[in-house]
Amino acid sequence: MSVMIVTGGSRGIGAATALLAAEHGYAVVVNYLKNETAAQVVVDKINASGGHAIAVAADVSVEDDVLRLFKVTADKFGRLTALVNNAGILEQQCSLQDMSAERFVRVMNTNVVGCMLCAREAVKVMSNVNGGSGGNIVNLSSIAATLGAPGEYVDYAATKGAIDSLTIGLASEVAQLGIRVNAVRPGVIHTDIHASGGEPGRVERVSGSVPMQRGGTAGEVARAIIWLVSDNASYTTGAFINVSGGR
Ligand code: NAP
Repeated sequence: MSVMIVTGGSRGIGAATALLAAEHGYAVVVNYLKNETAAQVVVDKINASGGHAIAVAADVSVEDDVLRLFKVTADKFGRLTALVNNAGILEQQCSLQDMSAERFVRVMNTNVVGCMLCAREAVKVMSNVNGGSGGNIVNLSSIAATLGAPGEYVDYAATKGAIDSLTIGLASEVAQLGIRVNAVRPGVIHTDIHASGGEPGRVERVSGSVPMQRGGTAGEVARAIIWLVSDNASYTTGAFINVSGGR
């Protein structure tokens, strides 16, 4: 059985990815931080349509939580074949000069340390040297990695720049272990994340600067992720797909 962990799978892009992965035959571990109800809705939808899913609460920035997430996955479904490093946060829009040191650490820990902890555990179980049969990791970067998000959240953009470097380096490091590592860079996508920045209507505001003149949907991002983990992308590693309407 193909087994996928989607971090931050309770809402937004993660939830859309979990649902689509289940349609493609994956048993899905829907990780979340706090919103158990939302995670359970995703899990119930998958199980009700004949798929296999569980919800696991774990903070990806906490090592013990990540170790538990991977252990529960192995105990329930067996060997992991795909990791979608999707959990990510941003905070109130402002200039860098108004950001606290605590905020830098929070955003860095979730967006970068969390991805690295999960990637580390995934490589251990997927590696064909350890008896695994290879696998796939997809990291959620952002088009902000290329634009920098000035005046909004350059701290967040910098974490996504780090995700790009992680993707390039890890892809090369684990290619001979049978593991592909790729990233998706969403543009402005209709999800709850913009409310965390203090502007729930941000997608509408910036749509005019998107060549395609609209925000994207979580499903449009999920389709790129599912392509990357599929055999259709069998010669693709260390690659980036911008799902950003040309922005
Ligand atoms: P979202 O709607 O805000 O959902 C965030 C998800 O991450 C939720 O499931 C949340 O769980 C989970 N989460 C947050 N902190 C976590 C932690 N420490 N440990 C585990 N889970 C955690 O986000 P989204 O818009 O779908 O974004 C998903 C990814 O795409 C992020 O990496 C984001 O940076 C990236 N992205 C999004 C956009 C966009 O426009 N939406 C653009 C570019 C990149 P709870 O439900 O329990 O809170």
